[in-house]
Amino acid sequence: MKIRSDLLEGLVEIARETHPYEFFALLTGKKGVIEEFIYIPFDQGSNFAGINTSLIPVGIRIYGTVHSHPSNSPFPSPQDLSTFSSFGRVHIIVHYPYCKNCWNAFDSQGNVIEIEVV
Ligand SMILES: [Zn+2]
Repeated sequence: MKIRSDLLEGLVEIARETHPYEFFALLTGKKGVIEEFIYIPFDQGSNFAGINTSLIPVGIRIYGTVHSHPSNSPFPSPQDLSTFSSFGRVHIIVHYPYCKNCWNAFDSQGNVIEIEVV
């Protein structure tokens, strides 16, 4: 799986702007390259496990998710793991302080995976 560098930079920027709140979006693209995100509003009182899945456009191919951790933890929480398995297979967590390299990609089990930035 690959991700476009301009998209990745944009996601880090949005996470920074959304701080101290959490940002969540779905990742989509084509031919194995993540090219776009779909922003999904959710209740800021909960975490992203509380998203309303009826807001997800029908027929969209979901590659995975991205969300931010204002807490600066780079690792998925137990709730994150239960949500990951519902949405594709690549899950990016952008964490405080939202630097260029303040992100990691995980599979649905929460293992760190390599994705190529293109
Ligand atoms: Zn999380």
